Amino acid sequence: MRILIVEDEKKIAGFIKRGLKDEGHVVDMAHDGEEGHFLASTNDYDLIILDLMLPKMDGITICKKLREAKNPAPILMLTAKDGVKDKVLGLDSGADDYLTKPFAFEEFLARVRNLLKKKGSLAPTKFKVADLTLDLLTHKVTRADKEIGLTTKEYALLEYLMRNAGTVVTRTKISEHVWDIDFDTFTNTIDVYINYLRKKIDSGAKKKLIHTVRGRGYILKE
Ligand code: CA
Repeated sequence: MRILIVEDEKKIAGFIKRGLKDEGHVVDMAHDGEEGHFLASTNDYDLIILDLMLPKMDGITICKKLREAKNPAPILMLTAKDGVKDKVLGLDSGADDYLTKPFAFEEFLARVRNLLKKKGSLAPTKFKVADLTLDLLTHKVTRADKEIGLTTKEYALLEYLMRNAGTVVTRTKISEHVWDIDFDTFTNTIDVYINYLRKKIDSGAKKKLIHTVRGRGYILKE
């Protein structure tokens, strides 16, 4: 999933980014409120981690602006304050959840998982297409009960395809959800990664699951 972190404290931002990347997410960063608001308005994020106290534009203002613009991305607000007033203010401005710094990383991840689940229509922890399974909690992928080892990027791509199983996903959509803002759309990176996945998942199998839809993109289906 593609996540935006808006946090001016570089140490905390870096720590969260590493943790989310380890979980297979794609992460964009903004270090002030204006940049954060700009990125959140121009990209389709699956989750936004938003600090409350930010230079240039504060978290509450960003949150309100995004909701006024009907931006549907779930927002997890972070703050050093733990006053009830700030919590209410954050939630009233349209945030979905709230976490007070300092927090345990495990709790942070649990909240992230919860918000990402809410966003997905099926709220699953496991995906299954034919004999291919992907477990969101353990990151284990199997085909015909045989475990398949994937790199972080391959896993993220497969997760996106499985979340959208049965529908054609365009290269643009894939790049928006599986790659970060520095992704160059003029390269054939996506096709290269699709080929890596095909080798690991479809080669040797009777039924191919990853299909190319000419001129449109890819579809994962039986
Ligand atoms: Ca801050």
